[in-house]
Order: sequence, then C-alpha cells, then structure tokens
Amino acid sequence: MADTALMPIPGQVDPVPVARDITPRADGRVDLLGLPKARIRELFAEAGLDAKQAKLRAKQVYHWLYHRGVTEFAAMTDISKTMRPWLEQRFVVGRPKVVEAQHSSDGTRKWLLQTEDGHDYEMVFIPDETRGTLCVSSQVGCTLNCTFCHTGTMRLVRNLTPGEIVGQVMLARDALGEWPKGKMDFADDESETEYRADGRLLTNIVMMGMGEPLYNFDHVRDALRLVMDGEGLALSKRRITLSTSGVVPMMARCGEEIGVNLAVSLHATNKPVRDEIVPINRKYGIEELLEACAAYPGASNARRITFEYVMLKAKNDSDEDARELVRLLKKYDLPAKVNLIPFNPWDGAAYECSDPDRIRAFSNIIFESGISAPVRTPRGRDIEAACGQLKTAAEKKSRAQLDREAAESQPAV
Ligand code: SAH
Ligand code: SF4
Repeated sequence: MADTALMPIPGQVDPVPVARDITPRADGRVDLLGLPKARIRELFAEAGLDAKQAKLRAKQVYHWLYHRGVTEFAAMTDISKTMRPWLEQRFVVGRPKVVEAQHSSDGTRKWLLQTEDGHDYEMVFIPDETRGTLCVSSQVGCTLNCTFCHTGTMRLVRNLTPGEIVGQVMLARDALGEWPKGKMDFADDESETEYRADGRLLTNIVMMGMGEPLYNFDHVRDALRLVMDGEGLALSKRRITLSTSGVVPMMARCGEEIGVNLAVSLHATNKPVRDEIVPINRKYGIEELLEACAAYPGASNARRITFEYVMLKAKNDSDEDARELVRLLKKYDLPAKVNLIPFNPWDGAAYECSDPDRIRAFSNIIFESGISAPVRTPRGRDIEAACGQLKTAAEKKSRAQLDREAAESQPAV
C-alpha cells in the first residue's frame, strides 16, 4: 500500500488521500522524480555529503534529471566515476509506469499509467499542424461529479504527486524523443538551456486530464514549476493552460504562484443549469466565478481567459444562452475567448451532443459580439481520449467489483 496521508482540501468535505512526496520503495532507494533542487540537496546531505558537495551534486543531478531527461546516474558524465555508484545505491530516477499506449487514427495518443500503489490514470497527446498538446492529469478520478464527464463518475480518487504529474511530461518527451541534446557545459552556449518549441512535437501543456487541478494545488504548482524552470524542462508558462471547474478560492493563488494561462469550465449561463451540470456551482456561483476571473493575475488581451462550454443538446445550447454568455463576459469586461466543446459521448451518459447547425449558430452569435468562439474538433474519440472520456478500464472493473461487494454486504431483510 502507498504511504498516504489525508489532507483537507478547500471547499471539500471529504479528504482525498495524498501520497507523500517520498514513497518508500521496496529496495529502500529514494525516487528523485518530482523533487525540487533544494529537496534533492537536502537528501544528498542527509545521505552523508558535506554541504558544498551536496549543493554541487544537486545542481548537476537536477540538470540531468529535468533538462536532459536522463534516468541513469551512469550517464551523468560530469559526475565523478566514484560518485555515480554512490548515487545509484541510494537513489533512482523513475518514470510513471505505462500499462498501455494507444494510438488513435487521427494521430492522438493515449497512455494508461499506473502509480506505485496501483491506481490508474491517463495522459493524452494531441498533435496538429501547428502545435502538439499534452493533456496532463492532476488526480486519479475527480471528486466533482460534473454530470456530463466520465472522469467524474470514478469513485476512486487520489491526488497525484508532483512526480506523477511532471512525470507525465517527461514520459511524453521520452516517447517523442525530445530531450535537448548537446554538451553538458551549457554555459558556453546559452541556447542549450532553452527548450525551443519551434519544430518540436510537444509544444503545449494543458492541465485538462483527469481531476480538478485546483483541488491538488500544491502538487500541481510544484510540478509546473519544474516544467517552467529554465534549468528544468524550460517550457514557457505561456504554453501552459490550467483548466478549472471554478474553485474560486484557489484562483488568485493559481495566477500568483503558477502564472499559467487560465481556462474555466463555464458550460452554462444560469444557476439552475450550472447547478445541475457543474455541481461545484452550488458552492461558488457564476457571478463569483466571473469576478475571480476578472481579478485573475496576468490576464490581459494578449493572454485571454478561455471559457470552455460543452455543447449539450437542448440543455445549454439555445440562442438565448449564447446571448447571455456574451452579456456576462461583457459585464465583467473579461479578456475572454470561448471554446465550444462538442459533447463527447460515453456509455451511460445522460446527454447528447448538440447538432452541428446549432453549434454553428451558437458560435456565430458569440463571434458577432467580437468574442472569438471556435469549436474544438473532437480528437481521439476512437480510443476514448477526447475531453471528458477519460476513465480507466481498470477503474471500470474495480467499480463493478465494488458494486458486487456492496450488494453482497447488504444485510438480508
Ligand atoms: N477538472 C477540470 C479539468 C479537466 S476536464 C475542469 O473541469 O475544468 C477538461 C474539459 O473537458 C473541461 O472543460 C470539462 O468540462 C470538459 N469535459 C468533461 N467531460 C466532457 C465531455 N463528455 N465532452 C466534452 N467535454 C467534456
Ligand atoms: Fe472533474 Fe473536470 Fe470532470 Fe468536472 S469536468 S468531473 S471538474 S474532471
């Protein structure tokens, strides 16, 4: 079993299990994946290096780990040959375990991953002509139960650790062969320290996989700091977008402490409908949410907030809804763009996707008001990799198992 601790989560009644930053491994070694430089330095000092050595080795290992994607100490060529076995005996550089990798006919790729303690989660890579976007998960499952989202039906929920989050990005770079190459003494050549997006496959990251990232704020922040660090994965914060269903109390901190682009899952323009389909609305209503958006640090016309809007037939897709959406965005003077997401179906879902003509009419009303409202092309539907379809097969099994167990434990009447 994993070493887990219960952490109270803002706005959350039930605590969600959180794995500690260091989960003991059977062989006693410590996995450095996901740890910041200062923590690596501490661990090296605890293992017996003097302060100066610990600092130097932490800097070197950090560079190999996050900037170059190296997982073997033997390959860290600027570390002395006697030091490398010392590190190897005490530490490892892990990666999330891949259970299955799937390829969609449209080029989308989905990886089913597994934590050390046996929980499944997923990541998805979506290439198109101009960019390649990795959709990263922040939790196993989600506690929020939006009625149109498959992930929300998972019972099993656990926060992912920083290592499990940044590990997804690192695994994608492994799979795409995209670690910066070149000499170690990068100071001679400053460009070596930058991960240039041009010509690369993985150019953008969206925190839009499984889970609500602002319910796992600390781990998401720590992981994204490693991704954004120029000496780490060195991906610009402008290329990272975090999507929230509207955890209002955490939004300002998201802007201040992470500083990435914000996407908000709005999906409805009035209380009864949003209460139904995005239940967190009962806690933080639309007006409160839009006020938090207006105050989001870093939002500007150059860095607009994306409002996601899933198109559900006869639920939220009328002309009146479109006009109300425009009114709300204008009322708060938001630097906004709207992203219309055709509903992706899954077994047992209670909704249908709006007709293409309806989606076009809805989009036109928003465009005519001067706000961009493109329709997101569904990707990877054939491998259930599209928005809201993520739910692992293992979870489906364990849920059936749970149901059986629940039925069996019912007292006979
Ligand atoms: N929990 C976060 C991020 C993950 S979901 C959030 O809700 O914002 C990423 C996006 O996919 C969200 O906008 C979500 O509402 C949307 N989505 C969920 N289920 C969907 C479905 N079945 N079809 C289309 N979009 C869906
Ligand atoms: Fe959770 Fe987002 Fe799905 Fe809602 S849409 S259940 S917040 S993952």
